[in-house]
Amino acid sequence: MLNKDGIPTQEQIRSCFPGESALLKPKAIVECYEEIPCNPCSTSCPFHAITIGENINHRPTVDFSLCTGCGICVFSCPGLAISVAQIVGDQVRFKISYEMLPLPAAEEIWTAVNRAGEIIGEAKIEKVTLGKAQDKTALVQVLTNKKHLYDFIAIRGRI
Ligand code: SF4
Ligand code: SF4
Repeated sequence: MLNKDGIPTQEQIRSCFPGESALLKPKAIVECYEEIPCNPCSTSCPFHAITIGENINHRPTVDFSLCTGCGICVFSCPGLAISVAQIVGDQVRFKISYEMLPLPAAEEIWTAVNRAGEIIGEAKIEKVTLGKAQDKTALVQVLTNKKHLYDFIAIRGRI
């Protein structure tokens, strides 16, 4: 549980996702479970898809109909609490933030990791972006098995 070990329940995780039909296009998954004074996700979105409102402590909400899955909010979130997910056949494509070195490279196979830090399978690196505006937070695009849709959270070490 979140307040004991920092791991959200499946119910909490799934509450951040749109229905699977919406995920045929890339959508931001904002896993910001606490009320904290923070809003770069909202201010960075060029499509106004994330709303926090006048009280900066409110949790962000996503209008999935406005979200294009661009990934800007992913590297703009200081809490690394956002990913982008898209179902592609029997796989799921994620865009995640990554701040470790060495960075992965396209075509490499890394391990897919769940929220408990356990290895759950493979993640194929598709693309790594690290522009000036990203302030050392890379955006890594990976493909993993669709069965990991609600479990995958990060990558670790090349296979
Ligand atoms: S992925 Fe892009 S369009 Fe979607 S909420 Fe984030 S910044 Fe906005
Ligand atoms: S920027 Fe990240 S940590 Fe801050 S409110 Fe948005 S999702 Fe939460």
